[in-house]
Amino acid sequence: MFQKKSLAFLEKLLLTSSPTGFESAAAKVFREETETFCDRVETDVLGNTIAAINPDAPFRVMLAGHYDEIGFQITYISDDGLIYFRANGGIDKLNVPSSEVDILTANGPVRGVIGKKPIHLLKAEERDRALALEDMWIDIGVDSREEAEKLVSVGDPVANRTNFRMLNENRICSKGLDDKIGAFVVAEVMRKLAERRPAVGVFGVGTVQEEVGYRGAKVSCFGVAPQVGFGIDVGFATDLPDIPKKVFGDVALGKGPEVNRSCDSNLPLYDRIMRISRENKIPVQISTGHRATGGTDTCCMQMNRDGVATALISIPNRYMHSQVEICDLRDAYGAVELITETILSFTGKETFRPGLD
Ligand SMILES: [Zn+2]
Repeated sequence: MFQKKSLAFLEKLLLTSSPTGFESAAAKVFREETETFCDRVETDVLGNTIAAINPDAPFRVMLAGHYDEIGFQITYISDDGLIYFRANGGIDKLNVPSSEVDILTANGPVRGVIGKKPIHLLKAEERDRALALEDMWIDIGVDSREEAEKLVSVGDPVANRTNFRMLNENRICSKGLDDKIGAFVVAEVMRKLAERRPAVGVFGVGTVQEEVGYRGAKVSCFGVAPQVGFGIDVGFATDLPDIPKKVFGDVALGKGPEVNRSCDSNLPLYDRIMRISRENKIPVQISTGHRATGGTDTCCMQMNRDGVATALISIPNRYMHSQVEICDLRDAYGAVELITETILSFTGKETFRPGLD
């Protein structure tokens, strides 16, 4: 399982807020960690971090894990100092009221809470429906716009308060496991490969702005120009009530990483990953997703330039896009082992042409 220093890195990443579009603090954590073992670490103009081993090798493998998380931005400050906001990424309005938040200003975080009318004062029809975001506000403890504007500005990013904790030895609970757990897996694969030296070039990329359409993966993949790409993201655990397995498949926490089988998956690469899992006795769960494409950095990498052989490896996740997402460390460790062994099996001669390779 993970070494202490790896777990400390994961904790640091989860305790660093990085709402979509404002990822620099998490990028710094990712960069400083990967700099300790990678051959070269670069940051591009969008804020992606590209950590490389054997960067000059002709055969290149890219790993993508996004370190942005869903969040908000300030739209308006009222005369009485209440702060209104909109979403960046797929926010579930039911999860928003009563959240503790940090407004990330140039002068540091400003603490606030998301308020709404008390239940007693809601009209009968309001009690049974989700409030719109404009029916809520952020209260930072001031009484006027003038006071608020001394602290925050329209456009400032807003993040849910960090809340990492272990529920027990294996189960980790935090906001933003989507997809800091994936960015963590990327870095941990690089840590292992730095010791075991693959025959190919490997680029571990912490990507930005996945939650608003894979923007970081798109440009970093163009820059890296890999032949093979692994997307590492969270996937839906279905070991919960009222998630029909007929539709969403059978995926449980703690039973291994998901190997996705969809239009995002290159067939020879999928076969190789499954062979590696059998040979190394790494338990995996096969998932298809509930659509033909998973809508992650993976599908974006697949369509780079003249095509990339891609695989999506998912870490099962409960309560996705809430402040209390849960993952299992054993699944993340399985993902690290599976991806590491698969990359070590590459000679650099593979073509990954379906039906030919
Ligand atoms: Zn994600």
